[in-house]
Amino acid sequence: MTHPFLDLPPLGADRFAAIEDRVARLLSTEQDVVIMQGEALLPLEGAIRAAAGPGTTALNVITGPYGQTFGDWLRDCGATVIDLAVPFHTAVTAEEIRQAFAEHPEIDFVSLVHAEAATGNTNPVAEIGEVVRAHGALFYLDAVASIGAEPVLPDAWGVDLCVIGAQKAMGGPAGVSAVSVSERAWARMAANPQAPRRSYLSLLDWKERWIDGGRKALLHAPAQLEMLALEACVERVEAAGLKAVIARHASAAVATRAGAVALGGGLEPYVYQARDAAPVATTLRVPSGLVASELVRRALAADPAVPLAAGGGALAKEMIRVNHYGAEATPGAVRASLAALGAALSEQGLTVDVEGALRAAEGAWR
Ligand SMILES: *Cc1c(COP(=O)(O)O)cnc(C)c1O
Repeated sequence: MTHPFLDLPPLGADRFAAIEDRVARLLSTEQDVVIMQGEALLPLEGAIRAAAGPGTTALNVITGPYGQTFGDWLRDCGATVIDLAVPFHTAVTAEEIRQAFAEHPEIDFVSLVHAEAATGNTNPVAEIGEVVRAHGALFYLDAVASIGAEPVLPDAWGVDLCVIGAQKAMGGPAGVSAVSVSERAWARMAANPQAPRRSYLSLLDWKERWIDGGRKALLHAPAQLEMLALEACVERVEAAGLKAVIARHASAAVATRAGAVALGGGLEPYVYQARDAAPVATTLRVPSGLVASELVRRALAADPAVPLAAGGGALAKEMIRVNHYGAEATPGAVRASLAALGAALSEQGLTVDVEGALRAAEGAWR
């Protein structure tokens, strides 16, 4: 008997190229789009190692844990790194980027995370892109947590390296990812003797052996199941309409925020200003004296299906994440999350208003 995962015809170069083209349309980009055969950390690391070297002066913006990782990679490449860290409950501003350029005109690379699912904030990339372009620096963006949840427009924003994954708001697989690469970025890589070559991390290999060859022959056997899942998830986003998918995430975020405030019990939005809150996921601060991971454990005991998680690392004590993305960007998932949080808080002896929270969430859904 044939098995749906196992007895598949080979995934050829034509199909692979067609999936790349579909991803490019999702990004409204004319740049080359390379689909990489691994989780988003593969192009995130590959792009930094290709574009940065001892001659690079990088402005590394830290608005969450990923920014810290990028700084480590940049330093490992020999780049001079200027870290611009802002508290995780805010976003960075274009003005802060402008000041960094004024203090360090030698900056020729900027790394930024668009939205941070881990901390729940989102950064004003369009405005920041104007500043970066005015100074001619190469602009690297992690859009893994924003694609599908808010507009991601590398061409309009002047992003030279834009990395996406399908596993968050697109509701797709985690095992393949993509990066759009500008002509400027290819030139920077080609001129970098340290850029990985003949390596799984190498973007230049894909440029030379795939793109420049007219996308006729793949470098190695593709991750076939993941590629088919990526195609299916892009198809689903196209069928619903990217705008509608984005609107669903925006609604989930405002509804969760409004619901959590109305719930009471000392729960507060982790990101102070609503405009800095990411549509992909809503982070909440637990009242002092309570432990977030314990509250999440109780909430999941009340309803194992809700998309709740405690913050990672040190944030596990104070932060709850409502991961209302992909299939969870629905009024039902938001309601269930609020109800489960209400149950957990009231078990801990706090006074909550679950009815009020559900009403507030419903009223805020756009
Ligand atoms: C989720 C995410 C990634 C991918 O990391 P995973 O931990 O494998 O999901 C990369 N960057 C950002 C900003 C993310 O939110």
